[in-house]
Amino acid sequence: MAKKFLCLGIESTAHTFGASVVSGDGEVLSDIREMFTTEEGGLKLDEVAEHHKKVAEHVVERALKDAGVEIEDLELISFSRAPGLAPSLLVGMNAAKEIAKDGGIPLVGVNHCVAHLSSGLLFTKAKNPVFVFTSGANTQIIAFEGRKFRVFGETLDVGLGNAFDKFGRGIGLGFPCGPKIEVLAKKGSYVELPYSVKGMDLAFSGIVSHVVRLSKQKKISKQDLCYSIQENFFSMLTEVSERALAHTGKKEIVLIGGVAANKRLCEMMGIMCKERECMFYSVPLKYSGDNAVMIAWQGILEKKSATKNVERWDINPRERIDLVEVEWM
Ligand code: AMP
Ligand code: MG
Repeated sequence: MAKKFLCLGIESTAHTFGASVVSGDGEVLSDIREMFTTEEGGLKLDEVAEHHKKVAEHVVERALKDAGVEIEDLELISFSRAPGLAPSLLVGMNAAKEIAKDGGIPLVGVNHCVAHLSSGLLFTKAKNPVFVFTSGANTQIIAFEGRKFRVFGETLDVGLGNAFDKFGRGIGLGFPCGPKIEVLAKKGSYVELPYSVKGMDLAFSGIVSHVVRLSKQKKISKQDLCYSIQENFFSMLTEVSERALAHTGKKEIVLIGGVAANKRLCEMMGIMCKERECMFYSVPLKYSGDNAVMIAWQGILEKKSATKNVERWDINPRERIDLVEVEWM
């Protein structure tokens, strides 16, 4: 039997340290993740990097063991080189470098946001969608045009996930609190809140501050606050996504990133797509948040399509998705 092309991916941009082995045809052989969590405060740079350092070796070992492979079986290693928290990115890159050096294995550094998009194509039937990418740190409406991923609209301040986390912290829910907000929202009803769409862009921070202030001034239940902030944020996102469909003429939406786990967001996007006779896809829940599967798959795509040397041994905490040269689409 022909030997399978195997790639070990390593993810470490933010809260999650993950390792995964994926085959050249997109089969997921393992997917191990350790997530930094905290009862109070948010993501503190040093604490997150310390967490990743502590778990790195064990996570990689488990990923190899789960996949039933040895380092010698790997043909490629990939890691997220951008964008993210610099100290965390370094932990991932150093772990990847060490294995690559020891095993004499090619190493590819990939853009984490691009990897989210590619996993959206791997795990859904979408071919040429508008991507609605909404994670902790990012919220962007993206489509592939003219050999690049172009950003049609985006947050002007924080990512939607972070906005939820900031709001949640403000009303005492810990980190991460997106899922907690979703549960509380189920029992809430609507109170009037600001709505902030600016052209194709979105602004979340001011609304968060307003709602946290409101929660201290007036007796409004957490359920009502969660329901209302969700309704407004998701309506804003759905509005600009619809305009991106109209503008590009594309017929599919793929929702990706941690916030894609939210059923109410999926429902709203689904209704909008149905009305426009478009297809709506959401990346499977399991792969919506940060994971190393998508990093391994992105490494494979780049290595296989490369017309020049794609080996990269550096990090770039601020690289935007629209700067990435796309050869694999
Ligand atoms: P990521 O950065 O892609 O891993 O996504 C993590 C972000 O997704 C965090 O900010 C979470 O609060 C948010 N998130 C996760 N699950 C949900 C949910 N069910 N509803 C809203 N936000 C969520
Ligand atoms: Mg992410």
